[in-house]
Amino acid sequence: MTVIVEEPMSTEVEDERLERPALVPSLFPLMPPTLYFSTANERVELLPVEQRKLLKWRMSSVTPNVVKHTITRSHFKVTKKNDDWLGCWGHHMKSLGFKTIREYQKLNHFPGSFQIGRKDRLWRNLSKMQARFGKREFNFFPRSFVLPQDIKLLRKAWEDGGGRQKWIIKPPASARGIGIQVIHKWNQMPRKRPLLVQKYIHKPYLISGNKFDLRIYVYVTSYDPLRIYIYNDGLVRFASCKYSSSMKSLGNKFMHLTNYSVNKKNSEYQSNSDDKACQGHKWALKALWQYLGTKGVNTTVIWEKIKDIVIKTIIASESYINTLVKMHLRSPYSCHELFGFDIMLDEKLKPWVLEVNISPSLHSNTALDVAIKGQMIRDVLNLAGFVLPQRDELQPTASSSASASSSTSSLCAGGRERCKPELSTDERVKRAFYLSQRFADQEFFSSVLDVLTPDDVRVLAESEDELTRQGEFQRVFPCATSARYLRFFEHPRYLNILLNQWEQKHWQHRSKGIDLLRNLCQKGVHLGNLSDTVHHWSSKSYTGHVRTDLNSNPSTKPELTRSSVQVTLSVPSLSLGGCGDEEVQSSVTCSLPDISTLGSSSASATPTPSPSPTLTPCSSSSSCHHPADYM
Ligand code: ADP
Repeated sequence: MTVIVEEPMSTEVEDERLERPALVPSLFPLMPPTLYFSTANERVELLPVEQRKLLKWRMSSVTPNVVKHTITRSHFKVTKKNDDWLGCWGHHMKSLGFKTIREYQKLNHFPGSFQIGRKDRLWRNLSKMQARFGKREFNFFPRSFVLPQDIKLLRKAWEDGGGRQKWIIKPPASARGIGIQVIHKWNQMPRKRPLLVQKYIHKPYLISGNKFDLRIYVYVTSYDPLRIYIYNDGLVRFASCKYSSSMKSLGNKFMHLTNYSVNKKNSEYQSNSDDKACQGHKWALKALWQYLGTKGVNTTVIWEKIKDIVIKTIIASESYINTLVKMHLRSPYSCHELFGFDIMLDEKLKPWVLEVNISPSLHSNTALDVAIKGQMIRDVLNLAGFVLPQRDELQPTASSSASASSSTSSLCAGGRERCKPELSTDERVKRAFYLSQRFADQEFFSSVLDVLTPDDVRVLAESEDELTRQGEFQRVFPCATSARYLRFFEHPRYLNILLNQWEQKHWQHRSKGIDLLRNLCQKGVHLGNLSDTVHHWSSKSYTGHVRTDLNSNPSTKPELTRSSVQVTLSVPSLSLGGCGDEEVQSSVTCSLPDISTLGSSSASATPTPSPSPTLTPCSSSSSCHHPADYM
């Protein structure tokens, strides 16, 4: 029987709990505060009634208790209306459904995230990356075949394996171990339904003779710029029967599957309530690291490999997701997503990704689950950065604009413009300039920080604010060393270049960067105040070095000369919507180092196989297939 361990909603010692302010102020002037979420150990202060009325949550049949408890502590009330809710934790929806979400609402999914959340799509996307970038970078998922399409390829691989290979067959879009089987005979293969057939990792790392896998929580707050966080704890789920490699035991699900929903049916299953203890069939991830540490294993190396897998897997679907976000969402503010990565360690402790869940189970039926998932959800909701809507956002057609100056409005003074504000012409030119360089080095890309435009300041300030709310999550992209991943993007994106450069420059002295942004926000630069012309970017702002002789001898390090750059970009021909007919003179040079190595000085020293070029040099104003979409 499953005992549901509820978090305390209110306790007799309530008054003794630490009271936390309901709003977390921004680090920066003229930026809005965000709502605070707590665990059961804290109380959240009550907002004045006018603001409290805005705290509405849309319940769904799949909203987990741990989410309900967390939002209740922050005084959210449930609503059934469509347009007054601020948050919802629900099902994934079809892309078109995202069109109805208002600018101030947040849903826990991105359109298109099934591109990694379905097993068949995950495999397709990762194998595409493997084909482009090679096995050295993309060799962390078992080879798979999607049936019926790949039946011939599977047959060949099957024969190459001499019939001794074990395979695991999975429905392409199910969960909790449903429909999964380990097989070794061709005639065991079901023929009538779509299927994912995957190489079975037959030599898993065992603890006390049992197989296990890891549930890693990954949270994406934004896809453009991409910001990925990984939770520093997680769950280790053990099979409840000792592992054997015998073909005869392949039908034993308690031996070969590690899902809790499968193993809880085994009378031998032992639960564990202690997040420190290495006992029973579920452990905290931190307990596993502790255990492996005592065996002399370097767990930092494993963790770094897991981070690498996570970043690459998220990047594998980012192009698809960003296209849908731009097509269907009024505001990028409206989406965030928690992913559950299932990772298995083989006998050499190499991590393999088995699947990615877009609705990871948040059920908490032991104190161990509550401890891990409760804190994690608190951190997710804090990172999400819920901002109280302004009155006029809630009532766009309201005749009384007088009410717009109520306390609600003033609370959000200088609030974020959730609908991405139109970029100014010089901002568009700046983006085009940094995206159109095919050959550029670290020095060139670092110049992106020289003159920060209003949108740059907004994005950087938002990212710095977000980072202060990360709790037990760790941001893995961008980070000081993440520029090396930029080459895996199908389309280079300006904001990723900006944030990666910012990280490289400021990660050791973050307070210096924050002071700089504070100054700019104080002047209202992020709100478009450009009275101070130094924030007005023009091609002349780039006074860096330009390579002049790239074609003459590519093997010698090109001589760099300080020059002003001189190519004309005709903005209308680039279909940079919003620029009107204005022709923008920009200085763009096209012969700088390859964008695929951008941001990483080591990468530019050691050329890596270039992805199929996504940008061509723009040497004229003609139809250059342009980065406008990727800006
Ligand atoms: P589900 O979404 O149904 O949980 P998974 O792909 O996570 O499907 O597989 C369920 C379980 O089967 C995993 O937790 C793991 O224990 C086992 N498993 C899945 N794929 C493999 C594999 N390629 N090799 C070994 N074991 C696997």
